[in-house]
Amino acid sequence: MDTPLFMDTNPERIFALLPDIKEKDKTLIQRACEFAKRAHEGQLRKSGEPYYNHVFATGINLAILKMDVDTIAAGIMHDVLEDTPVTNEEMTKEFGDHITKLVEGVTKLGKLRYSGAERHVESLRKFFVAMADDIRVVVIKLCDRLHNIETLQYVSPEKQKRIALETLEIHARLADRLGMGRLKAQLEDAAFPYVYPEDYKKTLELFESMRPISDEQLEKVVVKLKDELVIFDVEIERIDHRVKHLYSLWQKLKRYKMDTTKVHDVVALRIIVPTISDCYQALGVIHGLYRPVPGRFKDYIAVPKPNGYRSLHTTIFSGDGSTLEIQIRTPEMHREAEYGIASHLSYKELGKHANKEEIQRKTGWTKELLEWQQDVEHHKEFMKNLKSDFFENRVFVLTPKGDVIDLPEGSTPIDFAYTVHSDIGDHTAGAKVNGKLVPLDTILQNRDVIEIEVKESSTPKRKWIDMARTTLAKRHIRNYIKEHGSTLEKLLTR
Ligand code: MN
Repeated sequence: MDTPLFMDTNPERIFALLPDIKEKDKTLIQRACEFAKRAHEGQLRKSGEPYYNHVFATGINLAILKMDVDTIAAGIMHDVLEDTPVTNEEMTKEFGDHITKLVEGVTKLGKLRYSGAERHVESLRKFFVAMADDIRVVVIKLCDRLHNIETLQYVSPEKQKRIALETLEIHARLADRLGMGRLKAQLEDAAFPYVYPEDYKKTLELFESMRPISDEQLEKVVVKLKDELVIFDVEIERIDHRVKHLYSLWQKLKRYKMDTTKVHDVVALRIIVPTISDCYQALGVIHGLYRPVPGRFKDYIAVPKPNGYRSLHTTIFSGDGSTLEIQIRTPEMHREAEYGIASHLSYKELGKHANKEEIQRKTGWTKELLEWQQDVEHHKEFMKNLKSDFFENRVFVLTPKGDVIDLPEGSTPIDFAYTVHSDIGDHTAGAKVNGKLVPLDTILQNRDVIEIEVKESSTPKRKWIDMARTTLAKRHIRNYIKEHGSTLEKLLTR
């Protein structure tokens, strides 16, 4: 997986990924390339290559997703504000407010860090989306991360492990929530060997031993299916196969106690047909030709997966003793399964009437929320409301290290301290918000950085109960006072 140090950074590579790109859009991307190249002049990556290669690769990743040109331009310039002397004003002057806002969004997200504490993970995922003024910022960040994780071999071992774990827990999960199956798989497989080296080796070995169906047999099935589908007048747009990616194979093997005979979809045939009724018709044809494995048929068209995934799945006995999973879907379902939310934000889709229901289907945990958004017409407004409604009544604050803590609105440094650790709560002596000393009943605001001063001699006071907003903190304070009595009571009874 060594990345060649030489990278072809000709903008033509990006244009080639965007069919019918307009001249003025080419010019924009070209200007972004030149701007970023100049700004990063002289900076090197750990691998020794020019820093510009990294941001160009991010642009390529975005172009593969067919994102709109503003997003691609912002992706190419995503590290300019953070890592070079170029100012927001200079970028705004050159590229306007819109693109600069996207870059600022990415810069903001760059400051977050993942500590590995399980209970903070979901907060961090939410925070990611809440802090991004536009979901496209998240997509840029994911494409940025993809290149970083694919070039992780140049980074120190401790950093490798942290970045890879963060990628699995945050970025890959987010990509999944946003329905971006392809990006999710790439992130997971790149991170897997760094986070779980032993399991990675083991899974690789098992994978090689599995060989569920020979290439020859696969080819036979394909030829037979093509012939039969023609007879039944089902047009095939495409037929190909995918090999299950390693990380998801490992996840599945773990569920089956590493029993490889339980996994039927190491290789899956994918048939793309024009319409939904063609999907069902193709299924009928397939089941007429090959005996289906009982209990293996799944209709994700009638009942999509929570992240919006749609397809028909069936497993057949292919005739030589092996089984084969077949997935049937329309081109639209295929694009969505691979690119998820990006397929709704693409170059071609933007500007058209945003299809609320479709975006709704694609966004996982934001789904329930979207049901309240019945009359929102435009995508932009939709994202704005999505954020404010979903995150209403929550504030996201940071530890000095950048860990995200998710608290109810109205929380104080006391809540923060107890959420981090009960010991910290019990010995809180003071608090700093954004570097400034504040009273303990200060109401915390989004993005505040909180530092708690801890003293062994400091203990919970009764008045803290009223200052605290979370039941967690209130409970700890009460318990402490019950067990130890408050300091004042101790003095009086002495
Ligand atoms: Mn970057």
